[in-house]
Amino acid sequence: MASFAAAGRDILAAPPDEGLHVRFLGSGSACWEREPRTSKIFRRYSSVLIDGSFLIDYTWMAADMLPDGCRPKTIIYTHSHGDHYDPKAAVRLGVRDVYLQRGWLEDARRDFAKAVSEIGGEAPTIHPLDVCVPFSLDGYEILPLPGNHWTGRPHEQALIYKVSKHCADGVVRLLYATDTSGLMSTVFFHGFTKKEPITAVIMEATGNPLQKFGALNISHSTASTVNEIFTSYLKPGKGRYMPSPGQPVYLTHIGYYEWGQKTFDDEMPSGLALAHDGLEVIFKPIGKA
Ligand SMILES: [Zn+2]
Repeated sequence: MASFAAAGRDILAAPPDEGLHVRFLGSGSACWEREPRTSKIFRRYSSVLIDGSFLIDYTWMAADMLPDGCRPKTIIYTHSHGDHYDPKAAVRLGVRDVYLQRGWLEDARRDFAKAVSEIGGEAPTIHPLDVCVPFSLDGYEILPLPGNHWTGRPHEQALIYKVSKHCADGVVRLLYATDTSGLMSTVFFHGFTKKEPITAVIMEATGNPLQKFGALNISHSTASTVNEIFTSYLKPGKGRYMPSPGQPVYLTHIGYYEWGQKTFDDEMPSGLALAHDGLEVIFKPIGKA
């Protein structure tokens, strides 16, 4: 795992072709607001910065985790829950473009207009996304896939994303999957294709990460759920999931438990690794050591 983590590295200075750089700005689920920030186990709401360039989800909690001088202009949202979507935080950041699922487009327009009326600034352009319809973003190809997660908005489908990047030595294809109870069959067959296998995975483990039985929560996964998926049908190296050797599946969107990182790491099944706020990972193209 150590060769994939580059703690403390200036992600903006990394060569763009080396791989796909992910900085976890937050690695927690919605329940961390009650925990004091001074607590050793505190986690911010889940958010990632890709190549110092764009964000997947972003809230007020993640603002202090952006690298100095980094002001991404684009946010891709997974869904409308408050631990992922925060219009005021996006307007404060000066974001110009946001992408979200078409079913809650009008709600989002209203939310951003309200945010601008309250704090000033400019509303970003909102781009609607449809399940399984890819789009291009500054050289990345992004495929929205359905998450198995109920948001409470009747026309909204929560999304997870396959982010593909062509590097000098091959392609990195990252699946970023919060919030979702397991993976829907569409994701298995349309996302993890043998022609374009996924090479890196970040998935949620909101339920008790040490829970022995899998998907008891119908809207979220546990470490056991993830472990079952990636030790069975999507076993690494079997054609649909082709990670670099030794590269773990990173778990994020961790629920509230009074256990420290060390306890988690000691008991985590091999092949899984727990993310933490500020963790930086470089996902390399297949075949590159
Ligand atoms: Zn969430």
